[in-house]
Amino acid sequence: MSSSLSSSSTKGLLERLADGPVVGDGSMLITLEKRGYVMAGSWTPEATLQYPDAVKQLHREFLRAGADVIQTFTYCATEDNLKMKNEHEKNSNDMKSVSEINHRACDLAREVANEGGALVAGSVSNVNAYRKDGACHGAGKEFVQNEFKKQCDIFVKKGVDFLLGEFFAFVEEAEWAVEVMAETGLPVACTMRISVIGDQVGVAPGDVAVRMAKAGADVIGVNCCYDPDTALKTLAMMKEGLEKAGLQRYLMAQPLGYHAQEITDDPRGYSVLPEFPFAMESRALTRTDVREFARRAYDEVGVRYIGGCCGFEPYHIRAIAEELTEERGRSFPGRDKSDGYSSLKRAFRVRQHKRANPEYWKNLVPAAGREKVRKLAEIVD
Ligand SMILES: [Zn+2]
Repeated sequence: MSSSLSSSSTKGLLERLADGPVVGDGSMLITLEKRGYVMAGSWTPEATLQYPDAVKQLHREFLRAGADVIQTFTYCATEDNLKMKNEHEKNSNDMKSVSEINHRACDLAREVANEGGALVAGSVSNVNAYRKDGACHGAGKEFVQNEFKKQCDIFVKKGVDFLLGEFFAFVEEAEWAVEVMAETGLPVACTMRISVIGDQVGVAPGDVAVRMAKAGADVIGVNCCYDPDTALKTLAMMKEGLEKAGLQRYLMAQPLGYHAQEITDDPRGYSVLPEFPFAMESRALTRTDVREFARRAYDEVGVRYIGGCCGFEPYHIRAIAEELTEERGRSFPGRDKSDGYSSLKRAFRVRQHKRANPEYWKNLVPAAGREKVRKLAEIVD
């Protein structure tokens, strides 16, 4: 893979964003659950210790697909979160392993990132302590920030390239995380799991973005919970808020890899869909959907950091890299087996020729292949 090293390999996140689009990676927990390395329901990343080869293989597939960033597989790996899950599920995980999970995750991400000149993002999780006893502020600012600091200390020690806070439902919690992340001196990206209705206490997306920027975030956006269409609507509102406040920040989108048009304003996100989690395949984005998302994100909303969250498989990331090849001004490692539609043109059969036309794919309405088709779902509590 050494041929994939590009001239941008020595540049940091902000320099790369200034140059053009940065392609993120995709789903780890959901994809590793499908592959048999994560327990559904727990959604915790012990596989970094138990199955490091499986984690590395998925990192490698994202890298080969064109990801410029490899995120450490550390979502939910905080003492606070794992302790609660272990108590709830009566697991016997050793709390000492939380630190081990994070250290090992950094090593795995770095090893793979270095194979292709990618950056390592230390993935900082929201913490349960913020909602202790069901209230906002929960265990208090000092306690909550200390939980973030414990995560950041390991990432700094392990030399990640930047920090990425993810899956915040409350802007106040995101602000507290951003403040701690910014103290490290590393570039700070932060995404909220919100839709057009704003955070869980109704702070509008525009105001959320401004507050995150003022707290110290360099890159601001949304992840998880909603599909690309809803994510882009939310990001457009964030952008408008930033512009009105006279603030310039890079925007970031890592939405679901699933269609979820029913869920545009339910604060709980896609987990309320009846198909979650074992029948989501029928909702998977096609590569054409992803190319359209990447194009709209970049052209219409001005999003610079484009990746995916749950359901975004390596081939989805490849679709982003293919769509934005010209804007990025360079190829990606897996290009030897990915030349868009041209390989179909080279095929002998006339039927394949029709499919060599991008318009064929753009106009295609995929069938479900089932006799019974439900258009939109009833939400399940
Ligand atoms: Zn997700």
